[in-house]
Amino acid sequence: MSRSWHEECGVFGVYAPGEDVSRITFFGLHALQHRGQESAGIATTDGKLIHIHTGMGLVSQVFREEHLRRLPGKIAIGHNRYSTSGASKPGNAQPIKGQRRPASEGIALAHNGNLVNTQELRRRLKKPHHFPVETDSQLMALLLCTSPGRDWIERVRHTIPEFRGSYSLVLLTRDSLMGIRDPYGVRPLCLGRLRGGWVLASESCALDHIGSQFVREVEPGELVCIDSRGVTSLMIAQPAKGGRALCMFEFIYFARPDSIINGQLLYPVRQAMGAQLAVEHPVAADLVIGVPDSATAAGIGYAQASGIPFVEGLLKNRYVGRTFIEPDQRIRELGVQLKFNALPEILKGKRVVVVDDSIVRGTTTPRIVALLRRAGAREVHMRVCAPPIRYPCFYGVDMATQGELIAAHKSTPEIATIIGANTLGYLNLDGLIHAVGLPRNIFCLACFTGDYPIPSQPEMERELTAVPRGDREGISIL
Ligand code: SF4
Repeated sequence: MSRSWHEECGVFGVYAPGEDVSRITFFGLHALQHRGQESAGIATTDGKLIHIHTGMGLVSQVFREEHLRRLPGKIAIGHNRYSTSGASKPGNAQPIKGQRRPASEGIALAHNGNLVNTQELRRRLKKPHHFPVETDSQLMALLLCTSPGRDWIERVRHTIPEFRGSYSLVLLTRDSLMGIRDPYGVRPLCLGRLRGGWVLASESCALDHIGSQFVREVEPGELVCIDSRGVTSLMIAQPAKGGRALCMFEFIYFARPDSIINGQLLYPVRQAMGAQLAVEHPVAADLVIGVPDSATAAGIGYAQASGIPFVEGLLKNRYVGRTFIEPDQRIRELGVQLKFNALPEILKGKRVVVVDDSIVRGTTTPRIVALLRRAGAREVHMRVCAPPIRYPCFYGVDMATQGELIAAHKSTPEIATIIGANTLGYLNLDGLIHAVGLPRNIFCLACFTGDYPIPSQPEMERELTAVPRGDREGISIL
């Protein structure tokens, strides 16, 4: 996606004695690359020591054959990072190794999510420590390592209920793999079976790619511990209000369309969003296109429901991902042209419906509309699978501050004018829930409604409701 917001991580874990666990994790991370592209890492254990390799960039940039060979063992965890807490730098890459005495009592941790009580947790750190604590994930590792308890299950049970916010975690000890999901279930985590072993992954698409079978999702508040005795499940945390808060944007955009979340395969869910858009915002047009890849399924859904033909009028240059090599200004100004190419032969003189997943700041959408007009589109009708985003996210999505969100300050007709579209239609919140086909009360919808299911610390609220941080979009689309 070319927007200025990002999912903040993908996690993966495997317990499989006799298998090449580092290579399995490498391929698992590959399948989860869309969840984070700033850094990647794998930790393994051979039962004695924890081996780790992390680096900046995509999985394929971080790992060479020799790195995988130096990661032996029967258990592995892996991580793809997009930073939402702490800087994007090698020292903040994950997995994070946490030390206890003796050294064989260490752990490695990989985290997807964002804690909202880090100030409170930092105040609880009584003793001086030599562990770097720049990110919420490092704080979690430190608190786990300094927690009382005879074994890791006791330490996890003691520490995890203190964490508030979103967290899907995989933990590696010298003899076990653990998966933990926060009590609201904000981020996904699933369990799979693999030839005499077990796998944990942020999304089920990662299980498919390594030939493992989806078993079930880890429940909100559940600890799954996998060791030589098999799988043990414990409920270790309860939500304060007794509710769930699964991020709706996993359904709209973040997760891959071939993943299953909360029992729903996302591809047909996204088609249903497009179909619902056609019901709510019909328009006379010649063609429907979906902004690739995230809105392709929704575009097809709109076309099927409206009877207007679907075409690929916008093609994506798939290999222009985010890079840690910042381009120079001249290249950056090319903007969406680096990522998309419009086809004049298809678009010339046509009235075009463009389906997209969301409008966040409203700085990228005008560029897409302009690209279509330059390719000859006579009319451009923008249709969006999400309701207007008016509130910032505290649960780990690097979206924008409230001041940067265009729908927080502009009406829909004003936004249509700003983006240069003939018409603009957002999916209604009730229509979105209808399309997803699951009860409203299992979702976090805070960025649409302002109703935050998990209370946040005041510092975070002040920061995210602050004035604009400036346009970073030129960097983040690359
Ligand atoms: S606020 Fe929005 S993006 Fe953040 S977790 Fe909730 S639904 Fe997802």
